[in-house]
Amino acid sequence: MTELERKQDRAPVPSSWDYAPAPEARDLVQLRERYGHFVGGEWLEPREAYTTIDPSSEEALAEVGQATSEEVDLAVGAARDAFENGWSDISPAERAKYLYRIARILQERSREFAVLESLNGGKPIRESRDVDLPLSAAHFFYYAGWADKLEYAFPNRKPRPIGVAGQIVPWNFPLLMLSWKVAPALATGNTVVLKPAETTPLSALLFADVLRQAELPPGVVNIVTGDGRTGGALVKHPGVDKIAFTGSTEVGKSIQRELAGTGKRLTLELGGKAANVIFDDAALDQAVEGIVNGIYFNQGHVCCAGSRLLVQESIYEPLVGKLKRRLATLRVGDPLDKNTDVGAINSRQQLDKIKELVAAGEEEGAEIYQPPCKLPEKGYWFVPTVFTNVAQSYRIAQEEIFGPVLSVLTFRTPDEAVEKANNTPYGLAAGVWTEKGSRILAMAQQLRAGVIWANTYNRFDPASPFGGYKESGFGREGGRHGLAAYLAFEE
Ligand code: NDP
Repeated sequence: MTELERKQDRAPVPSSWDYAPAPEARDLVQLRERYGHFVGGEWLEPREAYTTIDPSSEEALAEVGQATSEEVDLAVGAARDAFENGWSDISPAERAKYLYRIARILQERSREFAVLESLNGGKPIRESRDVDLPLSAAHFFYYAGWADKLEYAFPNRKPRPIGVAGQIVPWNFPLLMLSWKVAPALATGNTVVLKPAETTPLSALLFADVLRQAELPPGVVNIVTGDGRTGGALVKHPGVDKIAFTGSTEVGKSIQRELAGTGKRLTLELGGKAANVIFDDAALDQAVEGIVNGIYFNQGHVCCAGSRLLVQESIYEPLVGKLKRRLATLRVGDPLDKNTDVGAINSRQQLDKIKELVAAGEEEGAEIYQPPCKLPEKGYWFVPTVFTNVAQSYRIAQEEIFGPVLSVLTFRTPDEAVEKANNTPYGLAAGVWTEKGSRILAMAQQLRAGVIWANTYNRFDPASPFGGYKESGFGREGGRHGLAAYLAFEE
């Protein structure tokens, strides 16, 4: 009798195969009751405040400031002072030291930051722990390396900093978008006024503590919290030399209008409606994982999300069958549980927008599939959704939903795939799945998108530039290109 046969009689048979809860410790984060603005290295008591919440429970987390234009003015003044009195003149190798310190501190405090990011934003702890935090630290490490090599990055062009950068970031990757913006700005010798999104200010406020630990000179990075009015005041401020914005196309357009003729520099990273194109020679099981990662990662709150799936007709049935089966295995729930795949929707406003677009999809005639799924009673939630029978003209095929909702379309030939993929006002990202390298290259040449992934999706690296075409914006973040956005040159 083998060991296994002997044990079989005694092994208890589980009554169900549900996952046991695996909660991350919430007490890793010590929240204050009230936060001010971080200006000139000090906390400025805000004149007005609002409450920021946990979207998975609607529980209040802390009071944060709603910066008025006077408070924005103080922050810009502190940034100008720091720029003119030291930061732009210190040796680039010294600047690099601060960036390295920030990167190391982010690594050391990564668990604390990951919990906070999930608590305030609703994203699964697995993602904040394994994606947001490592990538945020990687951006600071990467740009620390460039700080004293700008002459080599741009030979014979005499690069110099621009001055004060106003940076406005969204709520989908609060700390990561902060890192994408702050790291290259500091490496190139600029100073910063940052405004996090209204719903997710807490990781930026904890980052102020990282700056204190790193002994960054006061005023080099200032953080003002608040809603779009605070962002608007920052954009309008005459003391700001450059605006870097990530967010919706609508607000991006209004910022561009506002800045026209002012001479201020501008980079915009806006919305997307990326096509994920699956050819019939693709490895289907891997493609299904890529599709799931493409649209359900971070609840679909991703500007480059693969929200339009283009499937070659000959594999439509098996692929959609596999996708639906896979969908049923996704675990939706508590963002702080390490087993969770899909967390909470970031805000009630965003949930309403998703619901409205999903209703429009059903009304226009698309077929909806949602796996059986028990949602928590409190908080903002949406079941991972697939729409089939989608026509290109439907709103769910044209507009950015920014939620866990996939629209499936089909094609017969590569030309048709290119035409459909490019049939959008956006141009941020695309995915191509095929076993043929030549087809990948041919598709990549024809797809009008800033980033194209081949046989994978949603992979990021600080060395790789990211940005869009058309209504997805202009300018690049990441890589050497990301430095150029914060430099002026003597031509
Ligand atoms: P917004 O574009 O409004 O928000 C992005 C950032 O800009 C936030 O910090 C916001 O502040 C700020 N802001 C808002 N209005 C102004 C203004 N007039 N001047 C300057 N800054 C401003 O996105 P929303 O949060 O309203 O989301 C709406 C839709 O945008 C989503 O449903 C999604 O489709 C898309 N979106 C796309 C993103 C992307 O990365 N491509 C990211 C986020 C959203 P506040 O948070 O206080 O409003």
